[in-house]
Amino acid sequence: MNTVAPESGLSETLSPGLYIVATPIGNLGDITLRAVDVLRRCHAVACEDTRVAGKLLKHLGISKPLLRYDDHASDRTAAELVDRARREALALVSDAGTPLISDPGYRLVRAAREAEVPVTTLPGPCAAIAGLTMSGLPNDRFLFAGFLPVKEKARADALAELSDIDATLIFYESGPRLVKSLTAIGKIWPTREVAIARELTKLYEECRSGSAAELAAHYTANPPKGEIVLLVGPRVEAESDIDPDALLREALAIMKISQAAAQVAKATGLDRKALYARAMELKAE
Ligand code: SAM
Repeated sequence: MNTVAPESGLSETLSPGLYIVATPIGNLGDITLRAVDVLRRCHAVACEDTRVAGKLLKHLGISKPLLRYDDHASDRTAAELVDRARREALALVSDAGTPLISDPGYRLVRAAREAEVPVTTLPGPCAAIAGLTMSGLPNDRFLFAGFLPVKEKARADALAELSDIDATLIFYESGPRLVKSLTAIGKIWPTREVAIARELTKLYEECRSGSAAELAAHYTANPPKGEIVLLVGPRVEAESDIDPDALLREALAIMKISQAAAQVAKATGLDRKALYARAMELKAE
């Protein structure tokens, strides 16, 4: 069995193994008691950036050897860390949040498990989950899709690939790229509810909902600062209270008639030809 028993708290140091430690995504008060305990009792800390980890440890009054482990780390570095975790308690942290989630650590954890070195995890803050919980979007089914590609075509392809998934979609995003992503989302899913969860757990935390077009307009006028989780609600099902005219008008504001009809048909299950004819009428009004 290659897991470590949850630490008892009775001994000064921990049993050997790799301890995956989640850290705050902004508010330092979010560190768990168990995370502090493991950081205090481990032998060394593997981290993405020694300056960032050093700051957190200093805040906690802890001093430990810091070993760099980032996305560019070689297999040899991973093997050395695994070897160390076989003999000592090695904590793994990333700059913020849960290691491995759009952060380094996957190869290290795999290597440790393959080598039958004990691995345990200390759950805690994760921006994707924090954003989901405050978005008000359905959370019974969700899919975390990390960062969207930067290039326009690759981004559109990545979104198209997710089109048939009936779940809330979660992306990580940056301020400078937000409007481009919202515009791309508006083109493919004009009717789906979108939420922007920004600066979670920090002073200027906000969560704003609307259509992608509405949010793109808002953030064009108010360029966003800080860190962002972008969430897209599930596909809109055909329902009797759907207003096809409103959906068509929204879509026609940002795309051609044929595209608008196709998008609304896809989102609602209504007949594309009938929607096209209605879109022509609306355009002529
Ligand atoms: N491993 C981290 C986690 O568990 O959330 C995520 C690391 S990823 C490199 C960083 C991205 O997470 C940011 O670009 C942003 O999209 C999101 N993020 C991190 N902190 C955030 C916060 N306080 N508010 C909103 N989004 C945040």
